[in-house]
Amino acid sequence: MNVPNELFIGGKWRPASDGARITVLDPATAEPITTVASATVQDGLDAVAAASEALAGWAATAPRTRAELLLRVFGLMKERSEELAELIVRENGKALSDARGEVAYAAEFFRWYAEEAVRVEGTVQTAPGGANRIMVLRQPIGVSVLVTPWNFPAAMATRKIGPALAAGCTVILKPASETPLTALAVGALLDEAGVPPGVVNVVPSSRSGPVVGAMLADARVRKLSFTGSTEVGRKLLQVAAESVVSSSMELGGNAPFLVFDDADLDAALDGAMIAKMRNGGQACTAANRFFVQRGVVAEFSRRLAERMGNLRVGPGTDPAVELGPLVNADAVEKVGSLVESTVAAGAKALIGGTRPGGPGFFYPATVLADVPQDAPVLAEEIFGPVAPIVTFDDETEAVRLANDTEHGLVSYVYTGDLARGLRLAEALEAGMIGLNRGLVSEPAAPFGGVKQSGLGREGGHEGLLEYTESKYIALDW
Ligand code: NAD
Repeated sequence: MNVPNELFIGGKWRPASDGARITVLDPATAEPITTVASATVQDGLDAVAAASEALAGWAATAPRTRAELLLRVFGLMKERSEELAELIVRENGKALSDARGEVAYAAEFFRWYAEEAVRVEGTVQTAPGGANRIMVLRQPIGVSVLVTPWNFPAAMATRKIGPALAAGCTVILKPASETPLTALAVGALLDEAGVPPGVVNVVPSSRSGPVVGAMLADARVRKLSFTGSTEVGRKLLQVAAESVVSSSMELGGNAPFLVFDDADLDAALDGAMIAKMRNGGQACTAANRFFVQRGVVAEFSRRLAERMGNLRVGPGTDPAVELGPLVNADAVEKVGSLVESTVAAGAKALIGGTRPGGPGFFYPATVLADVPQDAPVLAEEIFGPVAPIVTFDDETEAVRLANDTEHGLVSYVYTGDLARGLRLAEALEAGMIGLNRGLVSEPAAPFGGVKQSGLGREGGHEGLLEYTESKYIALDW
């Protein structure tokens, strides 16, 4: 696969206007792979101009035509899935099996939104007083700035581009500097599928703040869709407020994983392995805090340590590897110091817990038992292969512990009592619940968080509506 390494603006590939480049590292070796163009503020504004020029034509393109283009990109992504997965491994580090899973998931957003593009509905009703009719149209919101993280470099881009294009919007994608190559490769596939120039623009930049800030200050931009940390999300909401730009925010998580005495422990362990170890723990949906009822905590902890300890660690390029490196040196430092402070607070490392030397950004699978209920690790998004386990006694205590966080993206519950499961699903403060299931991500479902995990939803029909605005027409006939 020929992976471009320049900016993609108005259907053309070009270097940054000041010639600046971003060095992309291989997390398994810490060695540079290549460089890509790093957009300046002017390049960002050029992309806004290109997206703005393309908007009227794309918005007026028949929904069926937009759908067929999206379906073509879905086909191309499936066709190139192995090359895309290898590219993700190179720049992100994740295991090849995780990367293959990501490409399949990412491609599905194009198929789902190809199916949704022809289902943008409005309504007509009679006003309650009977005097007139109320007609409501759904129109494309306009030029959209999409900012994505490095942990799912393909899926976080397609989860935004798919619905935006289906709704008739044009976009500028600003991918994370750690993983710009996958985003550029997705841009190239959209181009190859025949998406008109300017409809999709891709501008990696190491100067994210100024570039995104300038785009949001431009009156032609009407939408910001951001996926990343809560900290950066808060800042961008402030920037977007200046120009009153509609904002969708997919932010950090701190998912609780609850296991009750009556749970099917085999199923709970399978679910825990997915919820904790997908992407080596570098997922916003990652189980971050395990709360296990006293009757099963010893067995659950022992068996989780066994399963996590058996994972084969190494460079993601080796197909047998199940746990690759973390994304960069800062991540190793953060995860390492969180684990060390938790052990100092009284927890016991059943496996892992020590930073390996050697090349690459590796950190071992780590299970921490007997974690005190007030340990700082429970208040932070770990973003690594670390499972802290806390014991609880009853349902009330479990709900209190689970909800004791500023985040609210997803909660997992394992119980053999479905009534209890549904009761908890209502009581837990999260946008998504995995009930006897360790994986919630699904293109046809509304993905998103409550509290400081975000605003709005991606995926499902709701994901499409984020890129539309209602227009109300009061009429007499
Ligand atoms: P990050 O917030 O550091 O960066 C996200 C994106 O924002 C990157 O493209 C980055 O370059 C850009 N950025 C950084 N500072 C900026 C600024 N001042 N102005 C404009 N753009 C800026 O996050 P990350 O480290 O790339 O990703 C990990 C985080 O993303 C975690 O917190 C994770 O939970 C979250 N995440 C959330 C979801 C979700 O759907 N809720 C999905 C994946 C990741």
